[in-house]
This record gives sequence, C-alpha cells and structure tokens, in this order.
Amino acid sequence: MKDKRVSPIEMSGEDFKKIGYQLVDVISNFMETIHENQVTTGETPKQIQEILGNDPLPDNGMAVSEIIDRSSDLLFNHSLLNGHPKFFGYITSSPSPIGAMADFLAAAVNPNVGANILSPMATAIEKQTVKWLAEFIGVPTTFGGILVSGGNMANFTAFLAARTAMAPKSLKEDGLTNNAGEMVFYCSKATHTWIEKAAVLFGHGTKAIRWIETDAKNKMNTEILEKTIHDDIKSGKKPFLVIGNAGDVSTGVVDNLSTIATICKAHDLWFHIDGAYGIPAAVVPKYYKLFEGIEEADSIALDPHKWLYAPLEAGCTLVKNPQYLIDTYSSHPAYYNFTSHEDQPSLNYYEFGFQNSRGFRALKVWMALQQVGKKGYIEMIGDDIELAQLLFEEAKIHLELNAVTQNLSITTFQYVPPEYVNRVVENQEYLNRLNESLLNKLQESGKVFLSNSVIDGKYCLRACIVNFRTSKSDIYEVIDMVVNEGRKVHETLQWN
Ligand SMILES: *Cc1c(COP(=O)(O)O)cnc(C)c1O
Repeated sequence: MKDKRVSPIEMSGEDFKKIGYQLVDVISNFMETIHENQVTTGETPKQIQEILGNDPLPDNGMAVSEIIDRSSDLLFNHSLLNGHPKFFGYITSSPSPIGAMADFLAAAVNPNVGANILSPMATAIEKQTVKWLAEFIGVPTTFGGILVSGGNMANFTAFLAARTAMAPKSLKEDGLTNNAGEMVFYCSKATHTWIEKAAVLFGHGTKAIRWIETDAKNKMNTEILEKTIHDDIKSGKKPFLVIGNAGDVSTGVVDNLSTIATICKAHDLWFHIDGAYGIPAAVVPKYYKLFEGIEEADSIALDPHKWLYAPLEAGCTLVKNPQYLIDTYSSHPAYYNFTSHEDQPSLNYYEFGFQNSRGFRALKVWMALQQVGKKGYIEMIGDDIELAQLLFEEAKIHLELNAVTQNLSITTFQYVPPEYVNRVVENQEYLNRLNESLLNKLQESGKVFLSNSVIDGKYCLRACIVNFRTSKSDIYEVIDMVVNEGRKVHETLQWN
C-alpha cells in the first residue's frame, strides 16, 4: 500500500461530475419520453437472461462510464415502466422524480437511521416525516411511528406492537405458549395476504385468523365480527386485534372504520387499520368522510410508495401510543452506547422496528411532501380517483363493457361481446375465460398494463390508478384497446 491510499472504488470529483451529469442526462431523457415507450417489452425470462448474458464474477474492474451506460441501457429498455401513463397494474405508483433525487442524495450521505448518534439530522427528518404523515391523513400528531420497506412490513410492525400491548403476560419473557388462551385476530375476507404471513411467521398459525364475511358492498360485516368475538371469548380464546381495511387491495373498499372502532372499545381490542393503499385519500376533503374513525385506530399502516408516489421502498407504521413499539422492539446490548442526554432524550429508530442499520427512506417522502404540499397531493389523488371514475362511467355506457366496481382509484370491468350482453349470467364461465385471455394479450401487447380481480365469480380487468402521469386521453385510449383486443380474443376463442 502506498502512503496515500488509492482505492479502486473511489472516484475523483471530476469523474463523478462528468459521469454523474451524463447519468442525469439519460435519466431525464428517459422520464421525458417515457410515454413513447411500451409499458413493458413482453420479453420472456429466457430472452431477458440472454440479453443480460451469463458472465462469471469479474476478476478485474472496468470503467464506471461503461458500467453506467450498460446498466441504464438494460434498465431503460428491458423493464416494466410503472412510470408510464398507461400503467394501471396492481398498486405501484409512478415514482416521483424528486424521489429519485432524494435516494441519490440519501445514498451519498448514507446516514444510518438506526441510531440518533449515527444520523442526527436524518433522524430528525424521519421524525418530522412521521408527524407530517399523521397530519396528512388527519390523525393527531401524537401518533408516533417509523418508516419501513412497505405495506407488509408496516402491518407486521403494528401487528407485533398490538400483541405486546394486549398479551395477558409479558411476551418478551413468557412467549406465546405461556400466555393464557389462544390469541386470535379478526379481519375481513378482503384483507391482503400479509395477515397470513404474519400468522405463520409470528407463531399463531393461520387458524388463529378469523376471516369475517363481507357484506354486499364488500365491507367487513360488523355484526358477524361481534358475534365471532363473543363466541371466541366464550370458548376461552383471547381475542386481541381487529384489522380494518382503508382501501382493500383488490377493489379499494373502505370498511366501516368507526363501527369497528366501537366494537374494539367495547371488547378492549387493538384496532389496526391497513391503509397501505387507500388511506392517503383521506387528505381529499371530498372523501374524508369515508375514513371516519381513523383517529380511533391504535395503529395504521400506509405506503408512501403507493399513493404518495415515492419510489420503492417506503412504508410507514403509525401508532397511537408509540411506547408499544419500544416495548416490542427495544433491547439494549452492552455494546450500544446510545444513551441520551437527560434534557434531550434521543430517538433511536432501531428501538421502533425490525431493522438495526436503516437507510434514509424518509428523505424521499419528506422532500415530495414539500415539493407539492398538501394541496398538491389533494389535487393528484383527487385526479386519480376522478380518472378511475371516468373509466367506470365510460364502461357503464359502452355496449361491450360491463362496469363492475368503483372505489377510490380502482375500477373493475369486463369485456362482453355484443351478442352476450343480455346473457351475461349464463355465460359467465366463457366470459371469465375471455377476460383472462384478454388481460394476458393486453399485458403482452405492452401498450397498457392492467391487472385482474375476481368479484363474485367474475374475472374482471382491474385498473388501479396511482399515477400522476395518467390523463383522460389515456383512459379513452385504453378503452379502445380493451374493446379492439377483446373482439379479437373473442373471435379466436369462440371457435375453440
Ligand atoms: C399493497 C398492500 C399491502 C402490501 O404492501 P407492500 O408494500 O406490497 O408490502 C398490504 N395491504 C394493502 C391493503 C395493500 O394495498
């Protein structure tokens, strides 16, 4: 080693600028022209593998500019572009450009937001972000919480806090088996699969889940909820948690949150809201009423990487009494010297969740909230909902489309060939097959990306618009694509 160390991974300021500016140029061009691309190329995993090649681990290094050129080419030209205005699949948003800048900045400084001492400003910014998110959805800013990787983790983080709070004995010392009665929990049939993962991972088993029927509007049937809780108590179980959906993952339905809150109060149960997708819509005055009762939740999960348009990954857990997070996740090994000054207790995020070393996810959320303000989000979220409503209304009046559901920014519908319009029920099976084929064809075409939903036995096309780039013309064009492609698929299928 020489006196002055020259590490192969270091870059000179000059190189960083030169190559960095070039990278910014190509990213900016990618964003500006994204609508001219296919949403997805339709390449198979085998084709993708061939394009990538099969090089062994390199022994020797190569020039950064070459790596950047190749990496951007691979990603720009062989990815599914969820930033495309006609990407309506699942619930992944168009990523905000400022979010990309934030991740770049965060990575450059690289604060470890596990402990205050390692990330003094980043910790303070995360704390402010959590407070702003509480304010955003309209719950008291006394809610505390933490940024996590997404909805699953946000729900898990809250699930375990609920368990700590409600277990008859200390879970830390006695564990599950020494606690009195089987701990059971309640959610509607429309709840996301995270709940099954939680039941399995955290030692309850899926039999501890009480799947509550939904009513005609697809909301949790709260009468059945109450009855099930009564039955469980009678048979010696220990109910501890009820989960309400604020925008279920399939069709966007918001449960009767205040009714669930009342039931939770009556039985001393933890009330958790899974608002991963939908709860940001509470910021829009017109829709706030739908979410009545959210301030009564003990915990809330939300996903900035969905409707706040943060690039992946960003989820958030909010807890009414954040002490339960600390009671669940905090431990103090001897080698941590993170004790705080008496006058200014420091916030160590490793005590609030699963992670120890933590990246600076909050920055992209915090920066976007400032770029557009609450007003900007009210406008964008409101527009997304209006576009989904437009799609629904157009499907309703279109002779060959059957509008099925519309909640928040999710619309489901079916293509129905003209000769089936008056015979939908008796031909559901064929229509399901037709719509499934149609969805695959549309996805392969790469011109639009829809997903699916099965509603009362109907296989539906599903558009979820969490996309600030989508406009009315996209909706009209997508309708034309669906109808044209639907006719073709029907043409081929009906003779088979
Ligand atoms: C998306 C979603 C989840 C899962 O979130 P991830 O970020 O994918 O982990 C959970 N619940 C609901 C209601 C969702 O919409």
